[in-house]
Amino acid sequence: MQTHIPVDLLKTEKGKTADKILRSCVHCGFCLSACPTYGILGDELDSPRGRIYLIKNALEGKQVTKNSLVHLDRCLTCRSCETTCPSGVEYAHLLDIGREFIEEKSPRSLPQRVMRWSVRKTLTSPTVFNTLTTLWPFAKHAPANPKLKQLVKAAANKPYPKQVLLISGCVQPALAPNINLATINVLHKLGIGVIETPQEQCCGAVDHHLSGAEDALLKVKRNIDAWLSELEHGAEAIISNTSGCGVMIKDYAHLLRKDKQYAKKAQRIVEHTMDISEYLVKQDLSQFKRPENADVVFHSPCTLQHGQKLAGLVEKTLIELGFQLSPVQDAHLCCGSAGTYSLFQKKLATELRDNKLTNLLANQPEIIATANIGCLMHLQSGTDKPVKHWIELL
Ligand code: SF4
Ligand code: SF4
Repeated sequence: MQTHIPVDLLKTEKGKTADKILRSCVHCGFCLSACPTYGILGDELDSPRGRIYLIKNALEGKQVTKNSLVHLDRCLTCRSCETTCPSGVEYAHLLDIGREFIEEKSPRSLPQRVMRWSVRKTLTSPTVFNTLTTLWPFAKHAPANPKLKQLVKAAANKPYPKQVLLISGCVQPALAPNINLATINVLHKLGIGVIETPQEQCCGAVDHHLSGAEDALLKVKRNIDAWLSELEHGAEAIISNTSGCGVMIKDYAHLLRKDKQYAKKAQRIVEHTMDISEYLVKQDLSQFKRPENADVVFHSPCTLQHGQKLAGLVEKTLIELGFQLSPVQDAHLCCGSAGTYSLFQKKLATELRDNKLTNLLANQPEIIATANIGCLMHLQSGTDKPVKHWIELL
């Protein structure tokens, strides 16, 4: 695609990056059928190619309207379009630049800014968030299993030949404490010690996606310093069991690629970061084999299959462990959770969730399993069928 971005903008890092990405798009339109919002709304401006044109026009100095931001806000950043694109267009990186640029040219209303600020401050402040889930316990998924808690505590101080750093997540410990407990229990059983990051060490994704780029970078740098220290003290990997956090951490090197002080450090963090499925696939999991063949369906989060490119890995692991896995129609499509999307785009998010649940429940499984707390909570809000993190099944 030809571009005519003004010279001043092309001199900036963001201008250069956007130009390179725009030029890689050949407007073939293959991405349209992979896009959940285009599937529902049928408007080219709510498709990847349409949004790419909107961003291109804005960067080239053409008129930007409030509507431009509406179409970009409707994007789930699910990156299904990236998986489908034959030209390797880095859509998500372009979207980050486009959203920031368009927001500067056409600022959001005050109520919108207040709402976005409040959501990101609430979600990334464990003290506030934990208090809210205590006051409204129905917001929780399930309380901590006392037996599991005891088991994990009893095994915590044993000597282990190796250890890993587990990213706790800022909302996961309050909403679904059994996910981290189950993860630690599985790792202990494999002879691996676990250091948990404090809940305050949020990966930065919420700020990054809610117009808080500066706050996000502060968090990212603070995490890098803290986690590098753990690597130096012997942790062999940084493990994420929330694919939404994992995809953000794996992007640290891109975010800081031009930062003289942090570029190499960020690279080292990325090289050591693994989704729990990537780490476990290298271990002998035979002790977790199940003879009873529970019927499970797996919802692969977009951040796992499109963002981290780990499509099929959890499914393969579960099948090898003896679970009966139901096939899922349109498995590449987003469930509508998409970080805070379900709070800001309720109608679209609910329609996507209901479509996803219809497909997941088609073969009447006993349990829905997934790999991201956001998807888990969103799906659970639409069904009585238990929705769990797949690690809890082990
Ligand atoms: S599939 Fe890729 S190259 Fe084709 S229009 Fe979409 S983003 Fe552009
Ligand atoms: S990221 Fe997802 S919602 Fe956004 S344009 Fe791509 S496919 Fe569509």
